[in-house]
Amino acid sequence: MAIMIDGKAVSAATREQIKREAAEMTVKPGLAVIIVGDDPASHVYVRNKKRGCEEVGFNSWVYELPESTTQDELLTLIDSLNVKDDVHGILVQLPLPRHIDESVVTERIVPEKDVDAFHSVNAGRIFKGEASLLPCTPAGIMELLRYYNIEVAGKRCVVIGRSNIVGKPMAMLLLGANGTVTICHSRTRELAQVTREADILVSAVGKAKFVTSDMVKDGAVVIDVGMNRNEDGKLCGDVDFVSAEPKCSYITPVPGGVGPMTITMLLRNTLTAARNIIKN
Ligand code: NAP
Repeated sequence: MAIMIDGKAVSAATREQIKREAAEMTVKPGLAVIIVGDDPASHVYVRNKKRGCEEVGFNSWVYELPESTTQDELLTLIDSLNVKDDVHGILVQLPLPRHIDESVVTERIVPEKDVDAFHSVNAGRIFKGEASLLPCTPAGIMELLRYYNIEVAGKRCVVIGRSNIVGKPMAMLLLGANGTVTICHSRTRELAQVTREADILVSAVGKAKFVTSDMVKDGAVVIDVGMNRNEDGKLCGDVDFVSAEPKCSYITPVPGGVGPMTITMLLRNTLTAARNIIKN
């Protein structure tokens, strides 16, 4: 039987640590979150981010803007937050309404306050192995591996998915930890043959039951990033958990695996951003 990687427990321990570190600072770290429009799921995410800030003793501000907000109005708000001394992290909740260009908005946040690490400067720093702000989901996965003492160095790592948010930065972080990394995507041939090589398999596809047991090597560590709905409408990952779990040494459940780490790493980034800004 595989060891279940408990994202909730690691997240709670990490938040306690962040809270302790924040309490020792002379300045309270502060996160500004902007949300445009009425998407209910996005509002839930934003509420959880605000709650996370309160839990670890950060300042937080939520800017709720109507769907009709223009791109210029949003950019003007970002400009004002970029120069506000008590704001150390800025996050614009995605997706944005269709009339607003996400890329323009992402690039407008100063890299020092870009706690999602989506700005090209931060993406470039990840590529060079010099980042201090890391994309939250891949950073959360690295934290889970560290917490469970799962060695990456020298291991065969396979990442399924090449999005800018998850797949690509995940591969870079595993490479940075001296894994031997392969990235797979929808055009990969003989996918199962590639994934069966993996000591550490990360799936970030977004399709329920996509990773079947025949794709998993005996003793593999399987990290499931997917957030999907099964036929009963319940949250599930990419991995066909029932069939794959007995083959794994470690596995992340969904829910309760990778998911709980994402906001925690956002808090970690906000603390790091505050430290970096205060130092300069
Ligand atoms: P995305 O942008 O849609 O990327 C999906 C990736 O999967 C793409 O690179 C795609 O390849 C690849 N793919 C699709 N079909 C495939 C196939 N048949 N074989 C191999 N690769 C295939 O999604 P994302 O933003 O990275 O998110 C992935 C999943 O993670 C989603 O379920 C999302 O909800 C979840 N997620 C969870 C968290 C969390 O906190 N737990 C955070 C972020 C995302 P191509 O590039 O060739 O199209």
